[in-house]
Amino acid sequence: MGYKLVERVKLVVLEDQRVYLVDDELLELEGCSEMGINALKRLKNGCELEALKDLLDEKERRELLQLLAENGLLRENWSNQYSDDIVEKQIYYLEEFGSNPNILQHKLQQATVAIVGVGGVGAVILQHLVGAGIKSFILIDYDKVERHNLNRQFIYNSKQLGMLKVEAAKEYIHQIDNNIRVNIYPVMIDSVNSLSVLDGHNIDLLINAADQPANLDEILNEYSLKRRIPWVGASVGLHVGTWGPFIIPDKTMCMECFYRIENQQMDKLEYTIRERINPLIKASFGPTNTIISTFLAKDVILYLATQDSISSLQTRCEFDFRNLKMNRFRIAHLKPCSCWKEY
Ligand SMILES: [Zn+2]
Repeated sequence: MGYKLVERVKLVVLEDQRVYLVDDELLELEGCSEMGINALKRLKNGCELEALKDLLDEKERRELLQLLAENGLLRENWSNQYSDDIVEKQIYYLEEFGSNPNILQHKLQQATVAIVGVGGVGAVILQHLVGAGIKSFILIDYDKVERHNLNRQFIYNSKQLGMLKVEAAKEYIHQIDNNIRVNIYPVMIDSVNSLSVLDGHNIDLLINAADQPANLDEILNEYSLKRRIPWVGASVGLHVGTWGPFIIPDKTMCMECFYRIENQQMDKLEYTIRERINPLIKASFGPTNTIISTFLAKDVILYLATQDSISSLQTRCEFDFRNLKMNRFRIAHLKPCSCWKEY
């Protein structure tokens, strides 16, 4: 098998023959010979192990590869299978998460994502997921495009006013890539039964991007338990926005169990008061809406590509726009609740 240095790392050889591998950090390769430098140059371009044999003996080869691997600098000798594709540059980003990023991209292309609500949060997430190479969507929303949506729902335009959002969103998707599968349902989700429009679909991830009705989380939780579908959501308020927790069948708690523990730890008075207010607010600000939606989009893409590297795994992340502070409520002990067995 061939190897290659990660794309981001640069090889620097100073006049006095000191050798450095440079990315965010500097790694000095002490006592690196002329042959070692040549081997690194070949690895930078990617090469088979055979190609290092005339430069280094077996022990030297093993030591060099081990050093590079220990520092997370070594990958399979992959070549970008997505050149001239919209995800060409994303492949180099995904290289940080696996030894061959083409495989991770392939997973994204096989995934089906269902989004409940293509408004403030859903529209921005959709932009990122289309850009990330997701090829199959199910969109649920009974709303129509209105002029006051256009400060933050950038997939729509003024020619689409009055059109169903799911129809308009489908148009947006097909303007980027006509081969993407899009199933749309202009229905209101107000019970587990109303989610039966999803019953015939295989879904890799369900996203709650709607803020109504107030018990939507409960409805989605029950459906997720019933069908064993991973899901996650986000919401944006005036001064803070939140995303997560990421709920994964047989891996994390379900949403209700998460809430219960979170609420136990919240100040009792605050909990009682918060329970009585309607979270809906009139204000909607494009930038803060985008910030939270893109935090969630990042987790969604990395989950679908790697099943890992998620900041909101069993964690509610809260970002305060006033002081740029991140607060997290994390249930560190990763253990599924028994609800997954009961359904
Ligand atoms: Zn549970």
